[in-house]
Amino acid sequence: MDEIKILHMFPALLNLYGDSGNMEVLKYRCAMRNIRCTVDEYNIDSDITDFSGYDLIYLGGGADLEQNAISGGLMKNKEEIFKAHAAGAFLLLICGGYQLMGKFYRDSNGIEIPGLGLFDYYTTASREKSSRCIGNIIVEAEIDGVSTKIIGFENHGGMTENVKTPLGKVLYGFGNTEKSGYEGYFEKNVIATYLHGPLLSKNPAVADYIIKYCLNRKKSQPAELAPLDDTIENKCREMLLERLLKSNEKD
Ligand code: GLN
Repeated sequence: MDEIKILHMFPALLNLYGDSGNMEVLKYRCAMRNIRCTVDEYNIDSDITDFSGYDLIYLGGGADLEQNAISGGLMKNKEEIFKAHAAGAFLLLICGGYQLMGKFYRDSNGIEIPGLGLFDYYTTASREKSSRCIGNIIVEAEIDGVSTKIIGFENHGGMTENVKTPLGKVLYGFGNTEKSGYEGYFEKNVIATYLHGPLLSKNPAVADYIIKYCLNRKKSQPAELAPLDDTIENKCREMLLERLLKSNEKD
């Protein structure tokens, strides 16, 4: 039986807007295909020290306070995370989790939280606390070689700069900064994004890309995933795309 092993880091604190729902989506889409999907939780007092057996490491979003609270626990595992990424494990990083894999996150009080520096980008929040990127967002990305509109919700004060390979172009909403026109950070085994929703519930193609990547990384013969009935998900997407992109035209 195919299996995917996930390490969900700090689920109790990095779960802004129900980001832990991304784990439920992956478990559901694996179960429907008879793929075993196990999720281990890493909390501040966790005794997990070896990340090499995981196919996916996941961090959700969090407010400044929670990011501060977990930064020491994250830094403690810097080497394991670097090794896992280099070995090809998938990193799924949402908002606050995205920010903390870069060089630093300087919050709206000017407090600088050191990031792991796995990636060269860095994030700075305006001292003007009301200047935040909040609202629905649509990003045009290429996922598994297919142009895909990724739909979500963003709420961040942090502006992320020096992003060498963004996830995609913003069609609606803000993205990495208020004006950059691009959103997120992408590698074949990294999706780092500001999109809450949770992300994967509105974007089945992204969920399936992650599942397929994690399975095929361990196979000599890459396999396709059996399709699932995404009628409801696609209906929801059509309605959101219609509503948001049409409203953009009127602006
Ligand atoms: N606290 C960070 C910010 O405001 C991240 C927020 C989030 O995870 N939604 O930019």
